[in-house]
Amino acid sequence: MPATPSSDKPILIAGAGIGGLTAALALARRGLPVVVFERREARQIVMAGSGLTIWSNATTALGELGLGEELFRRGEEVRGGRSVNEHERVIYRMRTARYTWPGSLPSVSISRGALADLLMTACENAGVEIHLGTRCSGYEDSTDGVVLKLEDGETVEGSVLIGADGIRSAVLTQLHGGLPEPLYTGRSTYRGISPTSEGLERGLIYMFHHAPTKVGGGAWHTGDDRVAWTLSTLTEPGRRDDPGTLKQRATELADPLPGLPARLVAATPAEAVIRTDIFYHDWREHWGEGRVTLLGDAAHAMPTDLGQGACQAIEDGVVLADELARHTDPVAALRAYEQRRIPRVRWVRQQVMQMVKWPQINNRVVKWAVTKIVAPVLIAFRTRTLWRGLQQPPRTTPGPGQRAAGA
Ligand SMILES: Cc1cc2nc3c(=O)[nH]c(=O)nc-3n(C[C@H](O)[C@H](O)[C@H](O)COP(=O)(O)OP(=O)(O)OC[C@H]3O[C@@H](n4cnc5c(N)ncnc54)[C@H](O)[C@@H]3O)c2cc1C
Repeated sequence: MPATPSSDKPILIAGAGIGGLTAALALARRGLPVVVFERREARQIVMAGSGLTIWSNATTALGELGLGEELFRRGEEVRGGRSVNEHERVIYRMRTARYTWPGSLPSVSISRGALADLLMTACENAGVEIHLGTRCSGYEDSTDGVVLKLEDGETVEGSVLIGADGIRSAVLTQLHGGLPEPLYTGRSTYRGISPTSEGLERGLIYMFHHAPTKVGGGAWHTGDDRVAWTLSTLTEPGRRDDPGTLKQRATELADPLPGLPARLVAATPAEAVIRTDIFYHDWREHWGEGRVTLLGDAAHAMPTDLGQGACQAIEDGVVLADELARHTDPVAALRAYEQRRIPRVRWVRQQVMQMVKWPQINNRVVKWAVTKIVAPVLIAFRTRTLWRGLQQPPRTTPGPGQRAAGA
């Protein structure tokens, strides 16, 4: 039975992360009523995390929402990437403009807080209702609407519910009859933002890898002469650092690496160093049913290699708004969104998983052969396909005053 349109009821979004806020803004710009529920307070949202790279596919999507100018004012345009080994020998170089689609915006590196602040402000200006400090606990779906349950016992009626509440999503938990156990990558990252650039070239994503210790990482400008850095190390799950020792641990990890990483760690205040164990989900193609769907990490949390998690959440948000604006039947809109997004995210995730498996070859002979013979050939062939594919912006129908993305 086709669902009745419930235009009088708002679209409900659980979670005001990058994906939830993008969806909210895209919906509001198309004149659709939307209400967001977020468990954290505003200060926790803008202070969270360190630096993100938002690739051209996602900056272009944000540009269609009117955020292009502000994005590049607050962040730093990415012009290229360079990867070095423990002897500072360049093993890979990439110029982003070569792989950017015509009519697209360049990639940008920006602090997570600045991006969240930018999205939050744009949502408020577009009339989105955001309830902070409000945790969602579940929902009831029916043919004429959905009821979102809040942890304080309140309920809210909506036309559809979008679960944008991250890797441990309450909406995903109910949809799947239990939370699919997040998988541990085996890696933990120590991160921070240095108030000084320590000589890092602007516009460059600088990546480094120390083969003997298997410590890797990167550094990039986030705008305002600040530089985000990350150091990633193999660690058993659940290992905890003593409070107050994160900077010390990051210093130890950076120590064997030449030059820049140790200087950036040294320049970063101890209280600004954070640690995150990297988890992801098994691939699932069941993103929703009835009046409920998922987006971002709730639908497809992936390892951080290639920096596409937030980018895909942004793509989800604009495509979902596109389908909800296009259909009178909201259930049909959600299924159309899932059909459009699943093949795209499946491909992106496959690229990420290939990167993740790469350094896990333990046999030294096989590893030597792969690194010296197979890798250079594969890299030459795959680089263009990979980066062109990743940076393809989503195609959306123009809303009022918009230009179609990727046109
Ligand atoms: C170290 C690291 C580096 C990364 N670097 C990059 C990068 O460079 N580029 C990139 O594209 N991606 C990167 N990612 C991935 C990216 O951070 C995520 O994919 C992205 O944040 C997902 O956005 P989201 O909105 O789906 O989920 P989240 O950002 O997790 O947001 C979910 C929101 O929902 C809220 N919430 C959770 N539960 C509830 C509830 N029950 N009720 C109400 N609210 C709730 C949370 O508080 C949160 O605000 C990185 C991730 C990590 C860990």
